[in-house]
This record gives sequence, structure tokens and C-alpha cells, in this order.
Amino acid sequence: MLCERVGEKMNRMKKTRLIVANWKMNPVTFTEAKKIVEATKRAASRARGVSVVVCPPAIYLAALRKGSRAMAFGVQDIGAHEAGAFTGEISAEMARNSGATVAIVGHSERRRLGESNAVVAKKVAAALAAKLTPILCIGENIRDAGGDYLSVVRAQIMEGLAEVSTPLVPKVIIAYEPVWAIGKKAGDAILPADLHEMSIFIKKVIAERIDRAKALNVTILYGGSVEPENAHALLTSGDVDGFLVGHTSLDTTEFPLVIKAAAS
Ligand code: PEP
Repeated sequence: MLCERVGEKMNRMKKTRLIVANWKMNPVTFTEAKKIVEATKRAASRARGVSVVVCPPAIYLAALRKGSRAMAFGVQDIGAHEAGAFTGEISAEMARNSGATVAIVGHSERRRLGESNAVVAKKVAAALAAKLTPILCIGENIRDAGGDYLSVVRAQIMEGLAEVSTPLVPKVIIAYEPVWAIGKKAGDAILPADLHEMSIFIKKVIAERIDRAKALNVTILYGGSVEPENAHALLTSGDVDGFLVGHTSLDTTEFPLVIKAAAS
């Protein structure tokens, strides 16, 4: 029941930080998955003011969820359609019925396989229709001196939200993940001051769709080489509400430290 409510709570409680684990296509065995989830659960239950969401490979979700009431679960992707002849796809409603409360949508690793903003928009709408909280991933491949990357980010936001009605826009979580910072070390991540600037830009773009006060309140996550050593500075000086964490979320020593940094 607690997990069921976390998705809704995340959008209401602005003071709660949100840490989302994206395990990607890891780990290889369920036994390892169980070990990682247990370590995450211990850290999540100790961390005050932090909501933790684990997005494992969907095949592990239902079993991992049992007895893990200290955190919520999500999926790393959903299909754009409700049901039908879409081999290999998992619908938003299936994810919801398996216990997911959130869905990552438009991750750069899916976009790299050809997913367009138009498809991402359909997935965002499908998630909301199934009462999942969509985490819309955006982020430029490279930063150019001329600032063209801002147009890329702007288009990803506006086109990704294209099928969302105005009242539902605040329910969408934005994960800013510059592709150049993904899968590296803490020293390669964005600088807190640059993240702060981007956070302001994202809110400004969203304010083109909804009321400014509501736009300022939209949940924004950062993803890209978050590790214990940069977590605190990115959170406090970067003006974000939490993180989407890739490789560090599989590490049973380091991920608890990231959760702890969010609580402090
Ligand atoms: C990601 O791919 O969502 C991500 C943030 O990866 P990493 O933390 O490994 O950079």
C-alpha cells in the first residue's frame, strides 16, 4: 500500500527528495538483484525525507517488490500502445499491474535506438493513462559553445509533453540527463552551477505550457555519473529534486551513500 502511494506522494511533497535507480539490463541473476534491493531497502528505510524508487529489469519487478515496502518500483520503459501485436513490449497497464508506480520514458539509450520525441510523447501519455508517474528523460548529446543544446532540450520537453493535457503536466517528472555525462565518473558529471542554470531553463520552458507557479514546482531530477562524491553538491547547488542513477545504483556500498547524501 505504501509503495502504491509513493508515485502520487512524490508530486505532492516538494520537500521530499527523490532518488530513482535505473538498473538498465543488470544484474544477470535474480539472486544478485535481491542482494542489491536489500541493500537499497536498508538505506531507504534509514533516509528521512527521501523517496527511493528502483527500476529493475521488468522481469524481476513483481518478485523484488514483495517485502520491500520502504521503497517504490518502476519500469525502465513502456510500450506506446495499450495492447496488441507488439512483440517484446510491456504496456503501461501491465507495469502498473505488476506493482510499478513510475515509468522511465525517453531514456537516451532508447532514443539512440530510434525513439523519436513523437513516440516518447505517446509513452508519456500512456503512462499517465495507466496512473503511472512518467519520468521524462531529456538531455543533449553534446554541449556546443553557441548554445544549440538548449533548443534540443526545449524540443524534447515541448514535444515530449505534447500529448499531456495542461492539468496533468505537473504530474510528469523531468529527468535531465546530458548524454555526454552518462556512464562515466563523478568528475565527468555536470557542474552544480551548470545544472542550476539548466534547471531554471527547464522550468522556463515548462512555464510556456502551464502556470508559472506550477512550472516552478515541477519535479526535476538530474542523471549522469552521480556518485557519493558529487551527490551532495549537485543536490544543494544544482537546484534539482533528486537523481536518476545508473551504474552507482547497482553498487551495494555506493548507492546507499547517495541515498544518505540526499537525506542529509
Ligand atoms: C542513466 O543512464 O540513466 C544514468 C544516469 O547512468 P549513470 O548514472 O551510469 O551515468
